[in-house]
Amino acid sequence: MSTIDNLPPLRQVITDHGLVARKALGQNFLLDLNLTAKIARQAGDLTACDVLEIGPGPGGLTRGLLAEGARRVLAIEKDARCLPALNEIAARYPGRLEVIHGDALDIDPLAHLAPPIRVVANLPYNVGTELLVRWLTPPDWPPFWQSLTLMFQREVAERIVARPGSKAYGRLALLAQWRADARIVMSLPPGAFTPPPKVSSAVVHLTALPAPRHEADPAILNRVVAAAFNQRRKMLRSALKGIAPDIEDRLRAAGITPTDRAEQVPLEAFCALAREVARG
Ligand code: SAM
Repeated sequence: MSTIDNLPPLRQVITDHGLVARKALGQNFLLDLNLTAKIARQAGDLTACDVLEIGPGPGGLTRGLLAEGARRVLAIEKDARCLPALNEIAARYPGRLEVIHGDALDIDPLAHLAPPIRVVANLPYNVGTELLVRWLTPPDWPPFWQSLTLMFQREVAERIVARPGSKAYGRLALLAQWRADARIVMSLPPGAFTPPPKVSSAVVHLTALPAPRHEADPAILNRVVAAAFNQRRKMLRSALKGIAPDIEDRLRAAGITPTDRAEQVPLEAFCALAREVARG
């Protein structure tokens, strides 16, 4: 059977290298190269970009990224068993794939990649959320990445793109939408993966905005949003009591009704409130 790159089909790669999926590493592999190429295309034009891929596993998505023309790919994989399969891909694309054995949480991609950089990954969900939060909260903005194209559990994807008034709306939505455009671009049923996970998945594509959508101090905005959603059923005037003694006045000054709940407040109003709180 011919594949997108004349390398062996992924089922054979898995058998040849004994890559039995390990639950502890969150391994749910994508074995359909047409599907991985489709995910790679969601990241946009890769030909002028370096790509950071976290958790390449047997390399299905890596092969999609390279076949779609990525200038260079840095793939960071924790499971040493995957390295021989990944090295075979590197040999097929000389000078375009660098594989690092390690934990993505410990490695600085900027030591290996040149801008513009796009991030593409099918990651274990717990690591995915932690990395997303890190990528969205760098010390300076704009961040090192131009876009993030990430597979999540459907429920987490919905929390990233949620709008005010919905149950899924909360810290993750505000964090993501303050400085990025976030969209769900693909939905995948459990059966797309080997082995299938318990729940459906979705690919979220985030594009970094050149500057935050509305002005606010990141630390203050974070504090206000955290306090508001930690007690999301309470009215804001009580949920935010600890932020400032005159919080009711500050809420009104920001255009927020003090008896509203966090779930009803749009991003712009949270930013206005953060500016009011910053006035000291
Ligand atoms: N990208 C492959 C695919 O789509 O078939 C594999 C996806 S699988 C859901 C997640 C991969 O991330 C596994 O290969 C796992 O070993 C790797 N991984 C888990 N934790 C990691 C970490 N902290 N750093 C780097 N890789 C990690």
